[in-house]
Amino acid sequence: MTNNLFDYHLHSFHSPDGNMGMETIVERAQKLGLAEICITDHVEVDASFGHEWQANAETVAALLDDLNRMQEVTNGFVKRGVELAFPDNNPGTVEDLTRLVKPDDFDFAIISLHQYKGDSPFFESFFKERTLAEAAASYIKWINQRIREFPTEYYDVVGHIDVVVKGSHTCADPSLSLSFFEEEVRELFRFLIDKGKSLEVNTSAYRTLPGNKVHGLDWLTLFAQMGGEYVTIGSDAHRPEHIGYRLQDAINLIREAGIPYLATFDKRQAIMHKVK
Ligand SMILES: [Zn+2]
Ligand SMILES: [Zn+2]
Repeated sequence: MTNNLFDYHLHSFHSPDGNMGMETIVERAQKLGLAEICITDHVEVDASFGHEWQANAETVAALLDDLNRMQEVTNGFVKRGVELAFPDNNPGTVEDLTRLVKPDDFDFAIISLHQYKGDSPFFESFFKERTLAEAAASYIKWINQRIREFPTEYYDVVGHIDVVVKGSHTCADPSLSLSFFEEEVRELFRFLIDKGKSLEVNTSAYRTLPGNKVHGLDWLTLFAQMGGEYVTIGSDAHRPEHIGYRLQDAINLIREAGIPYLATFDKRQAIMHKVK
Protein backbone atom coordinates (compact mmCIF):
# COMPACT_ATOMS: atom_id res chain seq x y z
CA MET A 1 0.00 0.00 0.00
CA THR A 2 1.36 3.35 -1.01
CA ASN A 3 -0.50 5.43 1.55
CA ASN A 4 -2.77 5.22 4.58
CA LEU A 5 -5.81 6.77 2.94
CA PHE A 6 -8.48 4.31 4.04
CA ASP A 7 -12.03 5.56 3.73
CA TYR A 8 -13.89 3.34 6.18
CA HIS A 9 -17.29 5.05 6.24
CA LEU A 10 -19.15 5.26 2.93
CA HIS A 11 -22.82 4.99 1.94
CA SER A 12 -24.24 3.60 -1.32
CA PHE A 13 -27.86 3.46 -2.51
CA HIS A 14 -28.37 0.59 -0.08
CA SER A 15 -28.64 3.29 2.61
CA PRO A 16 -32.04 5.04 2.82
CA ASP A 17 -30.24 8.39 2.66
CA GLY A 18 -27.80 7.42 -0.10
CA ASN A 19 -27.96 7.04 -3.86
CA MET A 20 -24.46 6.20 -5.10
CA GLY A 21 -23.89 2.99 -6.97
CA MET A 22 -21.01 0.97 -5.58
CA GLU A 23 -19.21 1.29 -8.94
CA THR A 24 -19.39 5.08 -8.64
CA ILE A 25 -17.83 4.92 -5.18
CA VAL A 26 -15.01 2.67 -6.37
CA GLU A 27 -14.30 4.78 -9.44
CA ARG A 28 -14.05 7.98 -7.43
CA ALA A 29 -12.00 6.38 -4.63
CA GLN A 30 -9.51 4.92 -7.10
CA LYS A 31 -9.24 8.22 -8.94
CA LEU A 32 -8.38 9.89 -5.62
CA GLY A 33 -5.66 7.30 -5.00
CA LEU A 34 -7.19 5.90 -1.82
CA ALA A 35 -5.48 2.74 -0.59
CA GLU A 36 -8.64 0.86 0.41
CA ILE A 37 -12.29 1.57 1.10
CA CYS A 38 -14.99 0.03 3.22
CA ILE A 39 -18.62 0.57 2.21
CA THR A 40 -20.67 0.84 5.39
CA ASP A 41 -24.35 1.12 4.57
CA HIS A 42 -26.96 1.66 7.26
CA VAL A 43 -28.65 -1.40 8.67
CA GLU A 44 -31.25 -0.32 11.20
CA VAL A 45 -34.50 -1.81 12.45
CA ASP A 46 -36.00 1.40 13.73
CA ALA A 47 -38.67 3.54 12.03
CA SER A 48 -37.94 6.75 13.96
CA PHE A 49 -36.63 8.36 10.76
CA GLY A 50 -39.24 6.67 8.53
CA HIS A 51 -40.16 3.17 7.49
CA GLU A 52 -37.50 3.04 4.80
CA TRP A 53 -34.97 2.80 7.65
CA GLN A 54 -36.29 -0.58 8.72
CA ALA A 55 -34.06 -3.19 7.16
CA ASN A 56 -35.29 -6.72 6.60
CA ALA A 57 -33.82 -10.04 5.50
CA GLU A 58 -34.20 -9.12 1.80
CA THR A 59 -32.49 -5.72 2.05
CA VAL A 60 -29.60 -7.19 4.05
CA ALA A 61 -29.21 -10.04 1.52
CA ALA A 62 -29.19 -7.56 -1.38
CA LEU A 63 -26.56 -5.45 0.39
CA LEU A 64 -24.34 -8.46 1.06
CA ASP A 65 -24.65 -9.67 -2.53
CA ASP A 66 -23.46 -6.31 -3.79
CA LEU A 67 -20.62 -6.08 -1.26
CA ASN A 68 -19.38 -9.58 -2.06
CA ARG A 69 -19.54 -8.86 -5.78
CA MET A 70 -17.65 -5.56 -5.43
CA GLN A 71 -15.01 -7.12 -3.21
CA GLU A 72 -14.41 -9.75 -5.87
CA VAL A 73 -14.29 -7.47 -8.90
CA THR A 74 -11.96 -5.00 -7.15
CA ASN A 75 -9.58 -7.68 -5.82
CA GLY A 76 -10.25 -6.67 -2.25
CA PHE A 77 -10.01 -2.89 -2.70
CA VAL A 78 -13.56 -2.84 -1.32
CA LYS A 79 -14.14 -4.19 2.17
CA ARG A 80 -17.60 -5.23 3.29
CA GLY A 81 -18.79 -2.93 6.04
CA VAL A 82 -21.96 -1.96 7.81
CA GLU A 83 -23.13 0.92 10.00
CA LEU A 84 -25.47 -0.52 12.60
CA ALA A 85 -27.43 1.78 14.87
CA PHE A 86 -28.77 1.31 18.37
CA PRO A 87 -32.51 0.70 17.83
CA ASP A 88 -34.99 2.95 19.61
CA ASN A 89 -37.58 0.18 20.06
CA ASN A 90 -39.78 1.81 17.45
CA PRO A 91 -40.52 -0.97 16.86
CA GLY A 92 -37.18 -2.78 16.34
CA THR A 93 -35.13 -3.97 19.27
CA VAL A 94 -31.49 -4.97 19.75
CA GLU A 95 -32.64 -8.59 19.38
CA ASP A 96 -34.35 -7.82 16.06
CA LEU A 97 -31.17 -6.22 14.77
CA THR A 98 -28.84 -8.97 15.91
CA ARG A 99 -31.17 -11.58 14.40
CA LEU A 100 -31.00 -9.77 11.08
CA VAL A 101 -27.22 -9.55 10.63
CA LYS A 102 -24.46 -12.08 11.02
CA PRO A 103 -21.42 -10.11 12.08
CA ASP A 104 -19.09 -12.52 10.28
CA ASP A 105 -20.70 -11.67 6.94
CA PHE A 106 -18.88 -8.35 7.11
CA ASP A 107 -15.24 -7.28 7.31
CA PHE A 108 -15.99 -4.33 9.56
CA ALA A 109 -18.88 -2.93 11.57
CA ILE A 110 -19.59 0.51 13.02
CA ILE A 111 -22.15 0.99 15.79
CA SER A 112 -23.70 4.45 15.83
CA LEU A 113 -26.30 6.26 17.83
CA HIS A 114 -28.80 8.15 15.67
CA GLN A 115 -31.70 8.48 18.10
CA TYR A 116 -32.65 7.62 21.66
CA LYS A 117 -36.04 7.68 23.37
CA GLY A 118 -37.55 9.56 20.47
CA ASP A 119 -34.93 12.29 20.53
CA SER A 120 -31.96 12.88 18.24
CA PRO A 121 -29.32 15.50 17.50
CA PHE A 122 -30.93 15.62 14.06
CA PHE A 123 -34.13 17.05 15.58
CA GLU A 124 -34.33 20.75 16.43
CA SER A 125 -35.93 19.96 19.79
CA PHE A 126 -32.68 18.34 20.92
CA PHE A 127 -30.89 21.69 20.91
CA LYS A 128 -33.79 23.76 22.25
CA GLU A 129 -33.28 22.51 25.77
CA ARG A 130 -29.51 22.15 25.65
CA THR A 131 -26.39 24.19 25.06
CA LEU A 132 -23.96 22.69 22.55
CA ALA A 133 -21.81 21.41 25.42
CA GLU A 134 -24.82 19.78 27.09
CA ALA A 135 -25.88 18.30 23.76
CA ALA A 136 -22.44 16.78 23.21
CA ALA A 137 -22.42 15.36 26.75
CA SER A 138 -25.97 13.97 26.46
CA TYR A 139 -25.14 12.27 23.19
CA ILE A 140 -22.15 10.42 24.70
CA LYS A 141 -24.15 9.62 27.84
CA TRP A 142 -26.74 7.90 25.65
CA ILE A 143 -24.02 5.89 23.88
CA ASN A 144 -22.62 4.86 27.27
CA GLN A 145 -26.06 3.54 28.24
CA ARG A 146 -26.90 1.81 24.99
CA ILE A 147 -23.51 0.21 24.37
CA ARG A 148 -23.71 -1.79 27.58
CA GLU A 149 -26.74 -3.66 26.29
CA PHE A 150 -25.32 -4.27 22.82
CA PRO A 151 -23.32 -7.44 22.08
CA THR A 152 -19.66 -6.58 21.49
CA GLU A 153 -19.17 -9.15 18.71
CA TYR A 154 -21.40 -7.03 16.47
CA TYR A 155 -19.14 -3.98 16.12
CA ASP A 156 -15.54 -2.84 15.85
CA VAL A 157 -15.78 0.92 16.37
CA VAL A 158 -18.26 3.51 17.59
CA GLY A 159 -19.25 5.96 14.86
CA HIS A 160 -19.05 9.77 14.81
CA ILE A 161 -18.89 10.62 18.53
CA ASP A 162 -19.01 14.30 17.48
CA VAL A 163 -22.16 14.02 15.34
CA VAL A 164 -23.95 16.80 17.28
CA VAL A 165 -21.83 19.14 15.16
CA LYS A 166 -23.91 18.08 12.15
CA GLY A 167 -27.21 18.16 14.02
CA SER A 168 -30.04 20.68 13.96
CA HIS A 169 -28.34 23.40 15.98
CA THR A 170 -27.95 27.07 15.06
CA CYS A 171 -24.40 27.56 16.38
CA ALA A 172 -22.11 29.49 14.05
CA ASP A 173 -19.17 27.51 15.35
CA PRO A 174 -20.27 24.12 16.68
CA SER A 175 -16.74 22.75 17.15
CA LEU A 176 -16.47 20.61 20.26
CA SER A 177 -13.99 20.79 23.06
CA LEU A 178 -13.12 17.97 25.44
CA SER A 179 -14.24 20.12 28.37
CA PHE A 180 -17.85 19.80 27.10
CA PHE A 181 -17.96 16.09 27.74
CA GLU A 182 -14.76 14.87 29.36
CA GLU A 183 -16.43 12.68 31.98
CA GLU A 184 -18.71 10.99 29.44
CA VAL A 185 -15.95 10.53 26.89
CA ARG A 186 -13.60 9.04 29.50
CA GLU A 187 -16.27 6.51 30.40
CA LEU A 188 -16.80 5.60 26.75
CA PHE A 189 -13.07 5.31 25.99
CA ARG A 190 -12.51 3.15 29.11
CA PHE A 191 -15.28 0.81 27.97
CA LEU A 192 -14.02 0.58 24.38
CA ILE A 193 -10.37 0.06 25.32
CA ASP A 194 -11.33 -2.63 27.86
CA LYS A 195 -13.35 -4.47 25.20
CA GLY A 196 -10.61 -4.17 22.56
CA LYS A 197 -12.81 -1.81 20.53
CA SER A 198 -12.21 1.68 19.26
CA LEU A 199 -13.77 4.73 17.65
CA GLU A 200 -13.66 6.24 14.21
CA VAL A 201 -12.45 9.67 13.24
CA ASN A 202 -15.29 10.83 11.03
CA THR A 203 -14.22 13.73 8.82
CA SER A 204 -17.75 14.75 7.82
CA ALA A 205 -17.99 17.02 10.87
CA TYR A 206 -15.20 19.22 9.48
CA ARG A 207 -17.39 20.16 6.54
CA THR A 208 -19.76 22.00 8.86
CA LEU A 209 -17.12 23.82 10.95
CA PRO A 210 -16.15 27.40 10.11
CA GLY A 211 -13.25 27.45 7.69
CA ASN A 212 -13.63 23.68 7.52
CA LYS A 213 -11.29 23.42 10.47
CA VAL A 214 -10.65 20.13 12.19
CA HIS A 215 -11.49 19.45 15.83
CA GLY A 216 -10.93 16.54 18.17
CA LEU A 217 -7.24 16.82 18.99
CA ASP A 218 -8.03 17.10 22.71
CA TRP A 219 -10.25 14.02 22.95
CA LEU A 220 -8.04 11.96 20.64
CA THR A 221 -5.05 12.87 22.83
CA LEU A 222 -7.02 11.66 25.85
CA PHE A 223 -7.83 8.44 24.00
CA ALA A 224 -4.10 7.87 23.35
CA GLN A 225 -3.22 8.70 26.97
CA MET A 226 -5.80 6.20 28.20
CA GLY A 227 -4.19 3.48 26.11
CA GLY A 228 -6.13 3.76 22.85
CA GLU A 229 -3.86 2.30 20.19
CA TYR A 230 -5.82 2.66 16.98
CA VAL A 231 -8.75 4.32 15.27
CA THR A 232 -10.36 4.07 11.86
CA ILE A 233 -10.96 7.03 9.56
CA GLY A 234 -13.91 7.69 7.27
CA SER A 235 -15.65 10.43 5.34
CA ASP A 236 -19.27 9.30 5.88
CA ALA A 237 -19.79 10.25 2.23
CA HIS A 238 -23.26 9.97 0.74
CA ARG A 239 -22.16 11.87 -2.40
CA PRO A 240 -19.18 11.37 -4.74
CA GLU A 241 -17.58 14.74 -3.91
CA HIS A 242 -17.31 13.77 -0.24
CA ILE A 243 -15.50 10.48 -0.78
CA GLY A 244 -12.05 10.61 0.83
CA TYR A 245 -12.83 14.01 2.36
CA ARG A 246 -9.93 15.34 4.51
CA LEU A 247 -8.53 11.90 5.30
CA GLN A 248 -4.98 13.24 5.36
CA ASP A 249 -6.03 15.92 7.85
CA ALA A 250 -7.51 13.19 10.04
CA ILE A 251 -4.25 11.22 9.86
CA ASN A 252 -2.28 14.33 10.83
CA LEU A 253 -4.61 14.82 13.79
CA ILE A 254 -4.20 11.21 14.90
CA ARG A 255 -0.42 11.50 14.69
CA GLU A 256 -0.45 14.72 16.71
CA ALA A 257 -2.69 13.06 19.30
CA GLY A 258 -0.16 10.25 19.70
CA ILE A 259 -2.36 7.38 18.50
CA PRO A 260 0.13 4.92 17.00
CA TYR A 261 -2.02 2.99 14.51
CA LEU A 262 -4.74 3.27 11.93
CA ALA A 263 -6.77 0.12 11.48
CA THR A 264 -8.29 -1.56 8.46
CA PHE A 265 -10.31 -4.75 8.78
CA ASP A 266 -10.48 -8.10 7.04
CA LYS A 267 -13.18 -10.53 8.16
CA ARG A 268 -13.51 -8.56 11.39
CA GLN A 269 -9.79 -8.82 12.15
CA ALA A 270 -7.98 -5.53 12.63
CA ILE A 271 -4.90 -4.89 10.52
CA MET A 272 -2.68 -2.20 12.01
CA HIS A 273 -0.94 0.46 9.95
CA LYS A 274 1.65 2.64 11.65
CA VAL A 275 0.59 6.28 11.50
CA LYS A 276 3.20 7.93 9.32
ZN1 LIG B 1 -24.26 7.58 11.34
ZN1 LIG C 1 -22.81 7.04 8.12
